[in-house]
Amino acid sequence: MPKKYSYGRQSISESDISSVVDCLKSDWLTQGPLIPQFEKALGEKFGAKYVSAVSNGTAALHLAGLALGWGREDIIVTTPITFVASANCILYSGAIPDFSDIDPLSYTLDLNKLEEKLKLIYSQGKKIKAVVAVDFAGHPCDWQGLRFLADKYSFKLIDDNCHALGAEYKNSIKYAAKYADLVVMSFHPVKHITTGEGGAILTNDPELDKKIKKLRSHGITKDPEELTHTEGFWYYEMNELGFNYRITDFQCALGISQLGRIDEFIRKRRGIAEFYDETFIDDKRIITPNVSEKCKHSYHLYPLSIDFEKYNIDKSEYFTRLQKNNINCQVHYIPVHLQPYYKKKFGFKINDFPAAEKFYKSEISIPIYPSLEKEDLIYIADKITSLL
Ligand SMILES: *Cc1c(COP(=O)(O)O)cnc(C)c1O
Repeated sequence: MPKKYSYGRQSISESDISSVVDCLKSDWLTQGPLIPQFEKALGEKFGAKYVSAVSNGTAALHLAGLALGWGREDIIVTTPITFVASANCILYSGAIPDFSDIDPLSYTLDLNKLEEKLKLIYSQGKKIKAVVAVDFAGHPCDWQGLRFLADKYSFKLIDDNCHALGAEYKNSIKYAAKYADLVVMSFHPVKHITTGEGGAILTNDPELDKKIKKLRSHGITKDPEELTHTEGFWYYEMNELGFNYRITDFQCALGISQLGRIDEFIRKRRGIAEFYDETFIDDKRIITPNVSEKCKHSYHLYPLSIDFEKYNIDKSEYFTRLQKNNINCQVHYIPVHLQPYYKKKFGFKINDFPAAEKFYKSEISIPIYPSLEKEDLIYIADKITSLL
């Protein structure tokens, strides 16, 4: 069987497996000690005082919106170049979704355009309640700039950090919780570390953390300060409508073990990116990811940009040719505002966000994950150029 490549995949070691097996033999499969242990490890690694591990990244985004109290009249802005979940979480709260275009170099939110949008919405007597900023592909947004705008126009900041674990902004991997009010992570198998399904919310705000921990488990509390009265040690009250968004202990066993390997994963991903950067440098048709001098990329994705129209190449046929050579690439992303649901329900249309739409036409995510060896990379890079 020839090797098959996809744009991303997990890396599971024998010690990852044995930590899960140990948990399965223990007293706790869920609601046990490994959940707070994983949360503590995440908080230490990424510099957040409070962490809530949850069932997946989408649940984390939903809880973030609930904790910030989003409701019907609230306008929340995100980027069109993201997974649909970054925008869907706005709809879960019944709030109004809007988008702001990307910067054509970093592929993250363009802060000039975001400020234009803020001014426009203010001039209409309305207000933006929050911005969900995405560290696309593993390249951090301009977080200092975002914090400045958030303070100036008083809105809340969520960092959808699902792509960017281990990335650096201003020489720190602890940037996310420093600048954003809430940070959302995903541990889906294509992401930097995995728990199967899984996610987390990081914050330095104790009030938000308290709300999130309650809402992830049905809105139930046993905190004596929150109870109206007590009837005994079994007693609990439900004082908000929450969900079961809990993660299990055996998932956290995997998470703890994977987190211990993250530096190695990132080092490998950066090595692969460096190889691709150097290999494609002489091919004028191929634009490799740009990295701002304020950042260190963590390469969840390696997004190439190829002007298929200019070079008269059929993108879909190119994908088929690659697929026939066992290379399954992907496109990240179809701009969310062009999804039929968003067009129909909110009236978004083609040309609303031209930089995002142009990027979508040119983007192709090629394989990047820790287990790729030099010979794999040589094979992949050769096919990427020769089949173009
Ligand atoms: C993966 C991802 C999510 C959702 O995470 P799940 O764990 O799959 O629910 C949200 N936003 C972005 C940008 C992602 O890449």
